Amino acid sequence: MVEQDVTLNALFEAGIWIETGTPGVYGKSAMFEAIIDGLEALVTEAETGAERVRFPPALAESTFIQSGYYKNFPHLAAHVHAFCGCEKTHASLVQSKDPLDQWRDNLAATDIVLTPAACYPLYPLAARRGPLPADGWLFDVQSYCFRREPSDSPDRLQMFRMREYVRIGSPQQVADFRNAWLERSKDMMSTLGLDYHLDVANDPFFGRAGRLMATSQREQALKFEMLLPVIDAERRTACLSFNYHQDHFGTTFDIRPADGSVAHTGCVGFGLERLTLALLRRHGLAPQTWSADLKRALQL
Ligand code: AMP
Ligand code: ZN
Repeated sequence: MVEQDVTLNALFEAGIWIETGTPGVYGKSAMFEAIIDGLEALVTEAETGAERVRFPPALAESTFIQSGYYKNFPHLAAHVHAFCGCEKTHASLVQSKDPLDQWRDNLAATDIVLTPAACYPLYPLAARRGPLPADGWLFDVQSYCFRREPSDSPDRLQMFRMREYVRIGSPQQVADFRNAWLERSKDMMSTLGLDYHLDVANDPFFGRAGRLMATSQREQALKFEMLLPVIDAERRTACLSFNYHQDHFGTTFDIRPADGSVAHTGCVGFGLERLTLALLRRHGLAPQTWSADLKRALQL
């Protein structure tokens, strides 16, 4: 089967994505959403006993600061601003020939930051629950996420959906969870007919100090990614990630079992748009032509 080029223009022309006037923020067709629903159902089936929690795609500013995201990824973060003018500035704004400039001049930061990864709103919840039980916790979250990385490449969005399982427990419990998912996700890729590479990876930490953190993250194999052909078979795209945060969130948010030690955390994240694009590239832009097995697996 010849792979289909998944360019932005091809997606727009086929009505699969809808332009909004800004890069990395697109509307999606019913067909695209049906594939995402099918992927989510597969992900749901593959795990048992997870507690499902959903948050809007916004973090309290206090959680954002407490998480330390601003130290590691300031270039990706986006803080919501709102109008802070008075009646006088409003009147001048309404009459202005240049409303955009005036509008921008009258914005001030609110106490809301857009969620950069689906698991961030979870840690304060886990902390508020008191001592971590012996079995730890396993959560299922999904959220639109925002990262300030405008691009014309369809695999690099500013607003995208991330489905995650998040394990909070002992180092061994988190390691077992991550290893189980490294295996399960291979089966999932076979079901989807997708050709994967698993590799050690790093997060895009900011600046020169960030490069050291990235190196250390790789050396300790704290992050793995499942890479699939999405735009380019040579330069594959990370569609799933398997992260071990060690005690970072446990310490930061004070999540502890009754013995007073610090909880460890890890998460597996599915990039739902990227996975869907990988399917469209591999099997073609018309899902009605996909094999019966694949359609059944995705409930299409
Ligand atoms: P990360 O926290 O960077 O490992 O992201 C988790 C998953 O979200 C990745 O494996 C991707 O599938 C997806 N993802 C991350 N950044 C983007 C982006 N800019 N556009 C689309 N999907 C993304
Ligand atoms: Zn996560």
